[in-house]
Amino acid sequence: LELEIHGTPLPGEPCPGVVLVIDDVTALSKLEGVRQEFVANVSHELKTPLSSIKAYAETLLSGAINDPEHSTQFLTRIDEQADRLHSLIQDMLGLARIEAGKEQLELRSMPLAPIVASSLGDYESLAAAKHVRLLSEIAEEQLKVVADEESLRHVLGNLIDNAVKYTPAEGQVSVTAKSLERRVEITVADTGIGIAPEHHERLFERFYRVDRARSRELGGTGLGLSIVKHLCQAMGGEVTVSSEAGKGSEFRVTLPAAGN
Ligand code: ADP
Repeated sequence: LELEIHGTPLPGEPCPGVVLVIDDVTALSKLEGVRQEFVANVSHELKTPLSSIKAYAETLLSGAINDPEHSTQFLTRIDEQADRLHSLIQDMLGLARIEAGKEQLELRSMPLAPIVASSLGDYESLAAAKHVRLLSEIAEEQLKVVADEESLRHVLGNLIDNAVKYTPAEGQVSVTAKSLERRVEITVADTGIGIAPEHHERLFERFYRVDRARSRELGGTGLGLSIVKHLCQAMGGEVTVSSEAGKGSEFRVTLPAAGN
């Protein structure tokens, strides 16, 4: 950037008065880009299930309703797509609340083992149906974290849900935890499809998916990890991933440890 300022002093004035304002709009236009991308993503995500619902409803109305086999099939699809819209809206509202700082977190000290056990319990039947083994190993029964219980359950539930979803039959999902200096590290590991390193950086972005079709098929909204990241940060912790394609994944959550 080169600037040349020429000015002729007015009679009686020592020099011309110049006010120079330089605005760096780089950050602003980047933010605008992110916003536009988000709106485009949201529209796309909402339109897809809506188009399916409309298409099935129209087919039913144009006669398929009189064919019991097809009508049940189409109504089931409509029901599934409506569920998908519901999860998407729930996740978007949840994320917006966390981002706006409106989520009231109640941070307190709590034992970790029972929360891990009940989070794993929620996925028992899903895992059993897929022939995936669920394990938990928490070295110290007395391990305590400082967290908001509902958010911690949400974080663990989301990571376990993904681990079960992206692990084929006969695989294994485990939750382990250990204490580090003033922190507790919780690891959700699976023996599933894994994630190639080039995706790791963007994995926690809203709507980022490694395989869009597979995620949709499994009922994902693409917002789960973004919510996990925000909740961890709100509790003074963080979440990281280490994974290789075909070799399973490990998601690590660190939270402040509770003093005894
Ligand atoms: P989704 O609803 O699509 O599962 P998430 O935000 O939870 O969205 O995850 C983003 C993407 O990260 C997923 O679409 C999937 O590609 C990848 N992913 C997340 N967890 C795992 C896992 N345990 N194993 C393999 N891939 C995963």
